[in-house]
Amino acid sequence: MPIAPPAVIGVLGGGQLGRMLGAAARAMGYRVAILDPDPDCPAAAVADRIVIGAYDDVGAALRLADLSDVVTYELEHVAADVVEALEARLPVRPGHRPLLVTQDRLAERRFVEHVGIAVAPWHEVRSVAGARIAAAELGLPLRLKLPIGGYDGRGQLRIAAIADLDDAWERLGRPAGSALLAERELVFETELSVVVARDGDGDLATFPISRNLHDAGILVESVAPAPVPPAVAERVTAIGSTLAHAMDLCGTLTAELFLLPDGALVVNELAPRVHNSGHWTIEGAATSQFEQHIRAICGLGLGSPAAHGPTAMVNLLGSGTRREARLLGVAEALADPAIHPHLYDKRLVFERRKMGHLTALGTDLDVALAKARAALARLHWWDEATEGDDR
Ligand code: ADP
Ligand code: MG
Repeated sequence: MPIAPPAVIGVLGGGQLGRMLGAAARAMGYRVAILDPDPDCPAAAVADRIVIGAYDDVGAALRLADLSDVVTYELEHVAADVVEALEARLPVRPGHRPLLVTQDRLAERRFVEHVGIAVAPWHEVRSVAGARIAAAELGLPLRLKLPIGGYDGRGQLRIAAIADLDDAWERLGRPAGSALLAERELVFETELSVVVARDGDGDLATFPISRNLHDAGILVESVAPAPVPPAVAERVTAIGSTLAHAMDLCGTLTAELFLLPDGALVVNELAPRVHNSGHWTIEGAATSQFEQHIRAICGLGLGSPAAHGPTAMVNLLGSGTRREARLLGVAEALADPAIHPHLYDKRLVFERRKMGHLTALGTDLDVALAKARAALARLHWWDEATEGDDR
């Protein structure tokens, strides 16, 4: 039975992904309820109802359930007891299995290996002594990652020398004895990702893959369809499909991968949700990843994931000290009619915070990317020190 509009879609998390999911849901005639600790969160503007509460607050989650016909999430750090309490009441999609195998990087690696897909060589480590053994076996440099809670490059350390291990737990803010993922730092040709949607009937649609560039762990730009040989794109798509089926996904799944110089593909990270590297689909594909997610979880049948053409997406990051967010140069950036702006309306800006993104379609990827970068270069965040307060 489809969950038809004007049903209420409940979303755990009110960040930019919740905002864009909510906008897509509303365009389709759904109503939107959001759970977030911040009443001024980015998704508040597209929410019919908002429940203020932490993501691990079972009581708040049940209040969201009372308002909703189906619940989904925009972040994978949803506590297991929250999902359990919700699933007893109403459909939660993608559901607990995709959450369990993606919210903990150690569980994620076991799951990916279990279905026969490669990950970087890794060890679970709980002590400096254990990490030294891992370093001896895996080689340096290593990445030490928190199993739960890291994002945008936060929650991980690069270990270039054995001595860097000594205070690693302290620097990651974890007590000695707690488990960390140690993995070999791979030298890769490029990073790729694929967004897969799968519905309750097991039907699947995969978007063209994107090529992603990160800076110190944070996504800076994506281009799609990725300029890689068709055989590589097919293998990435097959990996995404295998993972979606294996976790019995209902919704969208994103797989981030490394393409190694020898042509091997290695899964780096999974997210059971829409993803920053899929934002290009809003203008660049026949169906956006957000609409696709709503279609999948509501049983409406999947839309065409076909790309309209070469598309580039660049992230607009915050810079400077924590302060009120006022963006300057918007008209200048939009002087090129190929540019589509997306701003998340976050009240405060700070260094490296994801504040928005720009999308450009072009005759080829280089043109699209050059346009997007040029527009981004015209934007900057108001700073009292340089601009003064002219209000
Ligand atoms: P996050 O949750 O912060 O996105 P990731 O594990 O995806 O965490 O790491 C962020 C980025 O750091 C990756 O996109 C990649 O650029 C780099 N990175 C992470 N792990 C490795 C690795 N094992 N080898 C090389 N680069 C890595
Ligand atoms: Mg990542």
